[in-house]
Amino acid sequence: HEKYWTPLLFRKSKGISESAEKTWLVGQSEWSEYFPECGGTSQSPVDVTTTKTRYNPDLKAVTPLGYSQHGNRPFSLHNNGHTVVIELPEWMGLRGLPWLFTAVQLHLHWGSGGPSHGGSEHTINGQSADAELHVVHYNSELYPNMSAAMTQRDGLAVLGILIVTGEETNPGFDNILNYLSRIRHADQKAFIPAFDVQSLLPKDLGRYYRYNGSLTTPPCYQSVIWTLFRERVQISKAQVCLKTPTKIIKLKLN
Ligand SMILES: [Zn+2]
Repeated sequence: HEKYWTPLLFRKSKGISESAEKTWLVGQSEWSEYFPECGGTSQSPVDVTTTKTRYNPDLKAVTPLGYSQHGNRPFSLHNNGHTVVIELPEWMGLRGLPWLFTAVQLHLHWGSGGPSHGGSEHTINGQSADAELHVVHYNSELYPNMSAAMTQRDGLAVLGILIVTGEETNPGFDNILNYLSRIRHADQKAFIPAFDVQSLLPKDLGRYYRYNGSLTTPPCYQSVIWTLFRERVQISKAQVCLKTPTKIIKLKLN
């Protein structure tokens, strides 16, 4: 049976739907024609070959700030036609990098293939996960806002969390997944109860892969300090079964 998720429009040109906006109807191989930065040497995502990683004792633990202090105001959930985006309040941030970073938004990447094709952006030793969560922050010590920071080297810090499906339900993700049916179509927006953002992260924040990369989609600015956690989070297969018959949000898992 079919399961529905937002598509990952940018990995493979054949996965791009007709309803996508024109500017996004460009296959990955052609990105650099339209967005020169996409031809850069630090393009994300990457495959992490663990045997080629090096332990760096200078790296500090990543500490989310205020992720659990969600307050009473609802979060906005937005289908931007490519993915599901939640704007984050500005008191959320990240410590453990050379500068203080302020949270901006989180979004999900889901694949259009089965588990063997994976929906994650990053892969580890060639292995995909089923999906990937990105929590985006900007360098608020050096730049006044996201737009100023996103073109600058060291302007952004993104946490990457690989998601796999298993038996157990992940209540943290229900805070998002339960509301996807309200934003079945591109440009739809819904307000959802604020929730503990930290509940979306793996427990072990001490082990991660760090590299300097880029936004994974156009305009591909090479401005991202990536932190890809080694521990993957699990959501249940049932959580993947959404009752949203739509062309926009679609992923076959079996
Ligand atoms: Zn992303």
